Amino acid sequence: MLHKALVKHVFHPLALARNGELAQLRYLAEFERTQWLSADELRALRWRRLQALLRHAYARCPFYRRRFEAAGVHPDEFRDFGDLRVLPPLEKRDIQRHGAEMVADGWPGHDRIVNQTGGSTGTPIRFLLSRDRKCSRAAATWRHNRWAGWDVGDRSAVLWGAPLDRPADTLRSRLRGWLLAEPLWLDTGCLTEAALRRFVEELRRRRPRVVLAYARAAVLFARFLRDQGLDVPAPKAVVTSAEVLDDADRAVIEQAFGAPVFNRYGCREVSVVASECPAHAGLHVMGEGLLVEIETARGPAGPGEVGSLLVTDLLNHAMPLVRYRIGDLGAWAAGPCPCGRSLPRLERIGGRVTDFLVGSDEQLVSGVFLATYVVAQRPSLGQVQIRQDEPGAVVYRIVPGPGFDLVEDVEYLRATTRRHLGSAMRVAVEAVESLPTEASGKFLFSRSSVTPAFLNPPSQKEVPS
Ligand SMILES: [Zn+2]
Repeated sequence: MLHKALVKHVFHPLALARNGELAQLRYLAEFERTQWLSADELRALRWRRLQALLRHAYARCPFYRRRFEAAGVHPDEFRDFGDLRVLPPLEKRDIQRHGAEMVADGWPGHDRIVNQTGGSTGTPIRFLLSRDRKCSRAAATWRHNRWAGWDVGDRSAVLWGAPLDRPADTLRSRLRGWLLAEPLWLDTGCLTEAALRRFVEELRRRRPRVVLAYARAAVLFARFLRDQGLDVPAPKAVVTSAEVLDDADRAVIEQAFGAPVFNRYGCREVSVVASECPAHAGLHVMGEGLLVEIETARGPAGPGEVGSLLVTDLLNHAMPLVRYRIGDLGAWAAGPCPCGRSLPRLERIGGRVTDFLVGSDEQLVSGVFLATYVVAQRPSLGQVQIRQDEPGAVVYRIVPGPGFDLVEDVEYLRATTRRHLGSAMRVAVEAVESLPTEASGKFLFSRSSVTPAFLNPPSQKEVPS
């Protein structure tokens, strides 16, 4: 249709040109082609990129130079991907402590785009990417969107909590939204029954082609539709991300929306990591830009074996991330994918679980939202976990970070919590020496055993013990 064609071929490229980001279109064309390379060709491409990255990191990043020297190797001596294992994994605390020495010497100031994670791990980090990497990341996202039948210019709806990324509602922003086919938003930073009902109305009116959602938000919305006996026009696909999706969740979402789920896994640090192709047989890694390793206690994981995910960003030379431990668990799928793409494939992602917290007016606020917009804004808080075991109250358990101030930081938590969860919320803060991890080994940012009355009592599975 005309609007879609105008957005895709005119307004979107114009917006990119204005931001100096036309490289996005070049990368998209490249990734559309390289996804069909043979396994050998893809391997050669990735090996060239890995070698270039390691030589660059050795030459220009003091932190990595030290790592190579400590391991007694030079990047020129690397012969295979497995040689990377002589370098230790890069931990989040390494970036907190030595991030400045990971930035490439002499990298131009105007080409350092600051990004910041909150993340479900509760350890905020800051990192930089080049404008070129910003473009290749966006292109990667579009390629993976296309696997779900979602192209530039398609109408979409988003169940996501990112008010800071959202433009203010002005005439100009509405016009821009129309010109660029910006999505319909349901802000999962604050969900109320009224907001869910409004969203149903908007979906009926706008009939989006694709719904993008936090997995937990999609499940919650699907349960709301089911329990209230409501329906919405079926999109072509529901793309879920940012949280673990199990088979039961998938079934609930597919039933309520009448559309297939395309699961995706990504993080702020490297954007889209892997996503489902139309074969729905695991998640293909964004292999041209990322090298993913899965480490177990006994070394690299074999197919089906769960281990810790390490990722090397092959395309960000501004601040290289080499063997970065994301903090999530995963396993490789075995054999080739029926779709014919040779991009490596994850069988599943585990241990990325966050719950919704229930505010004083029964609004639901996701743990990811609080991690990103409350805790990550304040590094002195250190590691944080939020627990909610009764309505109207939350408990922050914290391992204080450097510069923690008992009065100011606690007051900050109290004020921001009440802003998001309601002014009547009781907020308690407990300092602890360490935070417990789940059986999966993953640290959990938030956990709530409270369910709002407007949703049916959850099934046994969803009640944390
Ligand atoms: Zn496939």
